[in-house]
Amino acid sequence: MDSLKCSWVMDYQQLLENIYQAILPYAKEGKQADYIPELAKVNPDQFGMCIHTIYGETAAIEQADTRFSIQSIAKVFSLAMCLSIKGDDLWKRVGKEPSGTAFNSLIQLEVEKGIPRNPFINSGAIVMADILLSNLANPEADFLNFVRAVAGNDTIDYNKEVAISERENGYLNAAIVNLLKYHGTIENDIEEVLHFYFMMCSIEMSCRELSLVFLAFANHRRKFDYAGFTLTSSQVKRMNAIMQTCGFYDEAGEFAYLVGLPGKSGVGGGIVAIYPLQYSVAVWSPRLNPKGNSVMGIKALELLTTETKESIF
Ligand code: GLN
Repeated sequence: MDSLKCSWVMDYQQLLENIYQAILPYAKEGKQADYIPELAKVNPDQFGMCIHTIYGETAAIEQADTRFSIQSIAKVFSLAMCLSIKGDDLWKRVGKEPSGTAFNSLIQLEVEKGIPRNPFINSGAIVMADILLSNLANPEADFLNFVRAVAGNDTIDYNKEVAISERENGYLNAAIVNLLKYHGTIENDIEEVLHFYFMMCSIEMSCRELSLVFLAFANHRRKFDYAGFTLTSSQVKRMNAIMQTCGFYDEAGEFAYLVGLPGKSGVGGGIVAIYPLQYSVAVWSPRLNPKGNSVMGIKALELLTTETKESIF
């Protein structure tokens, strides 16, 4: 691929536009998630991207303002809440090692007797849903309020149809919660846990909203205190470490190799990545690769760090 033009003083708008042109050949590669029937209805031929720097610069292209199902990106918000509530005790319930397996894998969970490898695979996120259910007065309202507070945006909401559609077909996640319950690692009723987990995944946000909200994680020097949930700057840095090692399931190594930033993906086709103390970037395109990560999204981020000649490495 020809080298893209980018000036020393970064013109992010121009850069994103150049990136979009360069990745157009991949526009038809991959397949949107269809195991959640509501997600199969989304037009796959969409792309959005938005970047926010911690200095207040911003650039956005294409469908950067279209909301989509953030799915597993929501696991970053649940981790922030669980860490705020439990501190290091959280790690008694869930590990922090990369899994090297698919996001919905059961195998490791059986071998490791119900302690999920990390909070970003489904089993780990289901344990976090259980922790939140046990510790929040109004889990659904409190979770949404937290996300709205970090985003500074009260219009963000769940999409109940997506959550219900996932429940009706969520056999693997049902198997995961049953296995967890069998091992005694779930305190609440499994139907309640699943419902809450699917609700969290169903939140809808745009690339512009996601990249803005993730500035809270990109800038660990800023006070993290939203809707009564606080994190120290060390905790925020450590969340980035977990995004780096676990944010892309069995593609975390490949993402680190190609992009070199901590991040988190979701099967709605969204990816958010962070360059600590520099910027937060969100990209969305529904067609996924076999590992469940957006094809154009990964390409776009790979070009971003290649063209800016900057990553965390
Ligand atoms: N709700 C989805 C699931 O549990 C989230 C998966 C994802 O985005 N990787 O399967």
